[in-house]
Amino acid sequence: MRLIIISDIHANLEALEATFRRIDEINPDKILCLGDIIGYGPNPNECVKIVKNKVDISLSGNHEYGVLGRTELQSFNKNARIACEWTKKVLSDENLAYIKNLPVSVVDEDILLVHSTPINPERWDYIFTARDALYQFMEFSEPLCLVGHTHVPVCFGERGTCVFTDGGLLFPKEGTKYIINFGSVGQPRDYDPRASFGVIDTEERKIQLVRVAYDIEKVQRKIIDHGLPLFLAERLGTGT
Ligand code: ZN
Repeated sequence: MRLIIISDIHANLEALEATFRRIDEINPDKILCLGDIIGYGPNPNECVKIVKNKVDISLSGNHEYGVLGRTELQSFNKNARIACEWTKKVLSDENLAYIKNLPVSVVDEDILLVHSTPINPERWDYIFTARDALYQFMEFSEPLCLVGHTHVPVCFGERGTCVFTDGGLLFPKEGTKYIINFGSVGQPRDYDPRASFGVIDTEERKIQLVRVAYDIEKVQRKIIDHGLPLFLAERLGTGT
């Protein structure tokens, strides 16, 4: 089975469309989305609609929780808070109803899917380091746990960190658990501004990180036109 994993789209329509053009070439069996469809970017309604129509399993992230009032907006930084408040104003009732029903964690194909962390996923903690990952391994029994939230692609093996190779390929060892983050479609923060997503071939035990270029300037202009914080436009250009 060939699975596609997308996460942290953040209302970036151009990045999402470019990502789906590549996904269509791969012809996957299933598409999974790990949350944060909205927030930061200028096209929340369009992005929710695409996810609703094309994604098989979709999770909630902290930005959905922020817009729904389930997570205090005070816990967000200023730019995220301004974007969340703007998103709340423009999101249609139909799309609001869709994000209301998204779960925070799901097990599918013997893979744990969660936006933030296996331990207490609604606390929205981050897994940045091997040390952060260490405690999380005790919380799940599946061989793979897929996370988003940091916007930084990384793979942690239960017995030490393992990184994606230059071609983005990783072959997991049998009998070892992994926590993998495929980065962000709509706001990458690993100094590579291209959209980022993952492909897992469960038969071949092949895991691949894919990067896709998109029209960043178009999104930056929309962010500025909507009066969203300038920093949110600038960071797309630098991948930070
Ligand atoms: Zn995010």
